[in-house]
Amino acid sequence: MSDPEEFESGLEALRASADAAKARMSAPTEAAAKRAPKPARGDLEALLAGAQAAAAAAPPAKAPTCSGCGGALGSERAEPSERRELPVRCLECRRKGRAAIVSQFLPEYFAATTLETPELSTWVRSARAIAATRRALHEPRVTFVGPAGSGKTTLALAAIRARYVETGERFRIQPSWDLAVARQRFPLGDGDPPPIEDSIRTTMLLLDDLGNERPGPTYTGDLELIVYERHMHNRPTWVTTWCSKDQAIAKYGDGIARRLFSEALVIDCGGR
Ligand SMILES: [Zn+2]
Repeated sequence: MSDPEEFESGLEALRASADAAKARMSAPTEAAAKRAPKPARGDLEALLAGAQAAAAAAPPAKAPTCSGCGGALGSERAEPSERRELPVRCLECRRKGRAAIVSQFLPEYFAATTLETPELSTWVRSARAIAATRRALHEPRVTFVGPAGSGKTTLALAAIRARYVETGERFRIQPSWDLAVARQRFPLGDGDPPPIEDSIRTTMLLLDDLGNERPGPTYTGDLELIVYERHMHNRPTWVTTWCSKDQAIAKYGDGIARRLFSEALVIDCGGR
């Protein structure tokens, strides 16, 4: 569920290779060309004249069109998944394609909720938080704060969904309780356990429910590793937490608290 971009490019690669196979089947092979009788000189000249006439009569080259809807393309470039062959989709077709698949990368319980879902205003206690979130979709650092039941996770997931549909950015939703036990669960590996490694590397991270985990002896260190690395490389990082800034200082120290509060857009989901 953490890798929508890879899934999408896999689909595109399949489509591209199917198209390539079709093209190969219809193109004459080299062997077939060799078997064909060689044309005489007069035939060649006639062919050439015919080709020149056809070129002169042909309409001018068409503007590039979207392989999805057939509409004219603007400044769109091929996405990485499209580079192999030539189909290029317009921005709107890309958005629609992402909107159609994004649910499967979200936890099932939240998979149907978007920022437009009417019930969102009953699940999230603060109407102002919903409005602020709509404006914050492209923010690199957002901290959604509120006690259990304030709707912070619902809101953050609806927002990450909208962001993915807009940008196509690969994202990972990482529950903090799972992160806190990662070293215990993967004690023997070289390097960092997968949840930690993946949380550092993913393009866009949502660290969910920070503060609800039971920290083991190494947890704060792992959290620092993730948050510091991501900030250093300007990778977008969103967090949901019940902690206030003071509570975050007490629990994780100044460095984490500063990055999650002073250096992020804080959205108060209400309920205090
Ligand atoms: Zn299109």
